[in-house]
Amino acid sequence: MDVLSKSVGTVFPATQTTITAIAGDGIGPEVMRAVQRILAAAGAMITWEEAEAGAEVFRRGIASGVPQDTLDSIARTGLVLKGPLETPVGFGGKSANVTLRKFFELYANIRPVRELPGITTPFSGRGIDLVIVRENVEDLYTGIEHMQTAGAAQCLKLITEPGSERIIRLAFALTQAEARSRLVCATKANIMKMTEGMMKRVFERVSPEYASVTPTHMIIDNCAHQLVIAPEQFDVIVATNMNGDIISDLAAGLVGGLGVAQSANIGDSAAMFEAVHGSAPQIAGKDLANPTALLLSTVMMLRHIRDFTAAEKVEQALLVTLEEGRNLTGDVAPKGTGVGTTAFTEQVIANLGRVSRYPSRQYQPLQMPVWPDVVWHRPTLHETVGLDVFVETDAAPEALAASLQAVIGGSAFTLKMIENRGAQVWPARTGKPFLVDLFRCRFMLSAPTGNADAEIAQLIGRISAGHHWMHLEKLQRFDGVDGYTLAQGEN
Ligand code: NAD
Repeated sequence: MDVLSKSVGTVFPATQTTITAIAGDGIGPEVMRAVQRILAAAGAMITWEEAEAGAEVFRRGIASGVPQDTLDSIARTGLVLKGPLETPVGFGGKSANVTLRKFFELYANIRPVRELPGITTPFSGRGIDLVIVRENVEDLYTGIEHMQTAGAAQCLKLITEPGSERIIRLAFALTQAEARSRLVCATKANIMKMTEGMMKRVFERVSPEYASVTPTHMIIDNCAHQLVIAPEQFDVIVATNMNGDIISDLAAGLVGGLGVAQSANIGDSAAMFEAVHGSAPQIAGKDLANPTALLLSTVMMLRHIRDFTAAEKVEQALLVTLEEGRNLTGDVAPKGTGVGTTAFTEQVIANLGRVSRYPSRQYQPLQMPVWPDVVWHRPTLHETVGLDVFVETDAAPEALAASLQAVIGGSAFTLKMIENRGAQVWPARTGKPFLVDLFRCRFMLSAPTGNADAEIAQLIGRISAGHHWMHLEKLQRFDGVDGYTLAQGEN
């Protein structure tokens, strides 16, 4: 037998914790029931407040997919265990998952990725044991999108300094709480110097405060490469929303896939724990679903409420079950030996109190960064130095430049350059960029002015007469530092 017979301690916090349970759609109710049975058998002192969200709620015409009663329950308990929610196609509104993350400002998505016993992958034996901390509410996922012309779409990548600071501080705190020592900040700061660069700059500013952690910056594409080449080198990785989304699914694939991937969404006033997988409608109601991912998410929840004893007891029972390979669900069992959700659940319950050869980490309570400590950088000198005007036209760059110069004569601005899809096309540079009907025209103030807004209004009045513009970006300078980037080819 591959399992030690040492038993786990049974000292639980004396207080009962109330958790909002959202069973969700598809296999959600089955895996939720399995987890609730295991927790009850483990003696965890939890009271469930059952709440609903997802497909049925959308069908009742609630566009957010989350009824007020559920929001009230979460506001009361501050803790949610959630099954998968179907994102409706063809009816309903926004994703109910995103609604919950946004409403409760669950800004940190935490995705542990650890090799599991009995789950064989091409990476088995490498000792993969890492955590990805993904910023969860900013970046391209703010969902601010606009069609600029009929054929040109734009999505706003919004990254803030406080948003970056709290996720980075949380990543450092988590590294310490889990007795880890290395934190990689993975960004695309080499290309997106303002947005991704914000994350890198904040990381470099705060890292000296965490002496026990070795900080490293890595370009995100190299990070993806390294995750496949040598995943065992990583301890904790922090990344912006979309990069973190992609690398966390990649990393989950290294240790057995989404079916066993757990996650936590944490904010200052609430925390929500959920499996990464979806509602698996094909197998719903058939007693086939594997509750492992939701159970591992529940273990994270128990640690979050500081019930380290129950967390370890449940985690170890699951690890023993996987290690012994008896009564596993069909998705992970050796061919022909798979059992149902219920039989697997009973096997985990039977193993409560046993300890596997995969020790649990020595977790400490996670110290959440305190919001007032988060710095918002306020410049002393804030100047407007120009304006980017996005213009829709099929005209050639030379003709566009001539027509703009004809209308701005005598204004406070000069036309500095015109670009198309990021590359300067006027004054012409070497090469022949493919042109679309969306041009960015950069106007600079010829001299400092006390009322840049009035000058801008006048400029736009002149341009509007003969050009179709769709959006404006002020060119600003903060304490003498340009708050905008140059186009490719612009000097
Ligand atoms: P899915 O994760 O539901 O299914 C992908 C595959 O994995 C399927 O073959 C499924 O049978 C299998 N699978 C998933 N979980 C399993 C489990 N616990 N045990 C055994 N097998 C499992 O992904 P999908 O099909 O792309 O999405 C289905 C629905 O779920 C969609 O409506 C989607 O929007 C939603 N979804 C919700 C969440 C969430 O609530 N966090 C996440 C992803 C997808």
